[in-house]
This record gives sequence, structure tokens and C-alpha cells, in this order.
Amino acid sequence: MLFDKFQEMAAFQSELAQRGVTPFGAVTEEIVSATEGVVEGRRVILAGTNNYLGLSFDSRCIAAAQAAAARWGTGTTGSRLANGSFAEHQALEEEIAAFYGVGQAIVFSTGYAATMGMCSTLAGPGDVILLDADSHASIYTGVKLSGADVIRFKHSDPDDLAKRMRRLGDRAGQALIIAEGIYSMLGDVAPLQEIAAVKREYGGYLLVDEAHSMGALGATGRGAAQAAGVEADVDFTVGTFSKSLGAIGGFCISPHPELQTIRYCISAYIFTASSSPSVIASTREALRIIRSEPQLRDRLWDNARRLYDGLKALGLPVGPAASPVIAVELEDRAQTINCWEALLDGGVYVNMVVPPASPSTNFLLRNSVSAAHSSEQIDRIIAAYAGLLDAGLLRPVEAA
Ligand code: PMP
Repeated sequence: MLFDKFQEMAAFQSELAQRGVTPFGAVTEEIVSATEGVVEGRRVILAGTNNYLGLSFDSRCIAAAQAAAARWGTGTTGSRLANGSFAEHQALEEEIAAFYGVGQAIVFSTGYAATMGMCSTLAGPGDVILLDADSHASIYTGVKLSGADVIRFKHSDPDDLAKRMRRLGDRAGQALIIAEGIYSMLGDVAPLQEIAAVKREYGGYLLVDEAHSMGALGATGRGAAQAAGVEADVDFTVGTFSKSLGAIGGFCISPHPELQTIRYCISAYIFTASSSPSVIASTREALRIIRSEPQLRDRLWDNARRLYDGLKALGLPVGPAASPVIAVELEDRAQTINCWEALLDGGVYVNMVVPPASPSTNFLLRNSVSAAHSSEQIDRIIAAYAGLLDAGLLRPVEAA
């Protein structure tokens, strides 16, 4: 039967329903600020958003969105190729290109469309794509649609990438290599210096998805490639407006002038309506704030280190380094659900991650930090985790 393949998901859903927990459909009934809301009837600290700089609630971004809605209306009702290219879209493209210091930018309606659209269009049948095994679903979907030969290299393993490039022989010079900046689930940063060195040795083109790193990393917030000093080696950078920029939408920038032609070949750009002018206007304002207020990035990292150090001191299994995304690895599904629910009851919302959310991760409580969190809120998040230990729901993995 057509629906047989959904049985496992149906069983999981009914297990959650029996327990009365709703981790994947938790309704935010009220947003109090960038860092607090009412979720499933509980007033909570939001520690599972991607609102890294807290700009979703910035009064200047809100005012820009309001003014644009009044001026341009609520939606464009059309694709960029038809009636949906407003002056706002063009201005944002110019501003993103200027932010990155390159000539070309394309704005998409979502980050997913940007990544999926570029990955599915840049390479085609006869081409070869090498992607990090732990790539985001938008990358996997894109490369599948491309029709290219797809080779996975081990997560953040430049030696494995080099080995596979070597095996490609002459084809390596045409290959598209795909990596991310900060990985979305574990918060680890890609070794872009080493990946860029592989590209320099064997040739090919490099695409970096800076969805989680734009605004968070780099001297001016351009992302992991800027932080690694390898922007000159990156052929295509894709990113999103839904994280540091606090809105929704995506972009691709490139030094290659061909990007302006490629634009007209991307299905995910052509056959979908363009972003609402209010969304574009708040994104423009957020980009201006990122450029003019580097202290937001400092605050994000202060908070990231505070949370990371606090969770590590509790003996929890966190990753090797502080990051705006801090994942606590758990043992199994039951423990993950129990801990997620106890945190919510304790006034903290985090993301619950169970397979197959990400290819190489298992069970996680994913915390994301914001520049807008106060130190006191970070301490309350740590205290909520301490409560899980006290309740015996979690065990420390190492002596604090
Ligand atoms: N790329 C990566 C690496 C992501 O983590 C995400 C979203 N989590 C996206 C692309 C898609 O972005 P958006 O949610 O803004 O569509």
C-alpha cells in the first residue's frame, strides 16, 4: 500500500501522543522577546532557535518590515522572473554582494531553496559532486536532483576528500565540492583551510553553505570561510536569512559573473514566488546591523562559551569546543524525549533531534545560543540541565 512506508513514523507519532509530548509540533503560543516565549502553555527561555543575534525582535527590523508592508503590500504574488522582482529585492542583492565584496548575488525565498537550488543546478549529468557526509537535507536533495555523480567524503575529513579527488583523475578539475560553515546539529566548524587546500591542489569548484555561520563567524560576520581566511577559494557561498538575520529567505553570492546566467536556470528560483517586501526590508536592516554592530557577535560568543563551559562542568557529553550550537548527545529515544520534556517543564525550550535528522548524528538535545540571551538566562539553562542530572534522567560522562 502507498502508505506502508509511513508506518514507522506513525508508530513514533503515536508513542509521542500517548506520552502527551509534542517535540516536533510544539506550538509557540506567544513570543515575549527574542529569547522568551510561551510554548505548550509553559513560559520558557528559547534555547532552540537559530536567532543567533536576536534580530528577529529588533525594533529597527520590525519597523522596516512594517514600513515596507505599508508601502509595497503583504506579498509580491509572483516569481522573480515575472512580477515578483521589486526594488527591495534588487537592493538587498546589491547589499549582500557588497557585504561579501563580490559582484554577484541572488536572493531566494528560503535558505532551503538557495542551497537546494544551487546544488541541483550547478552540476548536472556527467559532472561530479563531492559532498560532506553530514550535509544538510537541502544539499542532499539538491545533489540528488542534479543528476550528477555524487560522492560523499567523510565528515570534515580533508584527507578523505583529497583521496577521492585523486581517484577522479581528470574529472577533479570540474568537480563541485560542498561543505558547510558551522554544522547545524553538532555546531562543529568545517576545516575550510584544509578543504580549500585540497581544491587548490586538485582543482574543482567549492560551494560553502554558511547558513549557521554567517553573522556568527569571521571578522565582519561573513562566515567560516572569512574566519579561515579562504574566501578567495570559495566559488559559491549560500546562506539564509532565517538565522542571524532573523527573517526568512536565502542567498547565493559568487565572484563568477556566470551567476547572473545561472539565476535563470534554477527551478527553485524561477518557479516560486519571491519573498514578501516586509521580509526583504527587515533582512536589509538586519544586514546593516550586522555590519555596524560587531559587538553582537562578541556577545553571541560570550554566551556560547558560558553555556558550553556550564554544560561541560556538569559533565554532560558536549562537543569538543564552544559554538553557537551546542549539542548534548544522549543514549536513546526514550531518554531524549524524557529530557526534552523535563527541560520544557523546567522552563527551557531546546530542539529535540532523533535520527535521521542528520546523517551522522543520533540522539541530541540541540541548544542554540543568542546574543540576546542574558547571562542570567544562560545560567537558568545550565540549571535546568543540572535538574536533569538530579532527577536521574541524565548521567555525567566525565568528572566535572
Ligand atoms: N542549509 C543549512 C546548513 C541549514 O541548516 C538550513 C536550515 N536549518 C538550511 C540550509 C535551510 O535554511 P532555511 O531554514 O532558512 O530555509
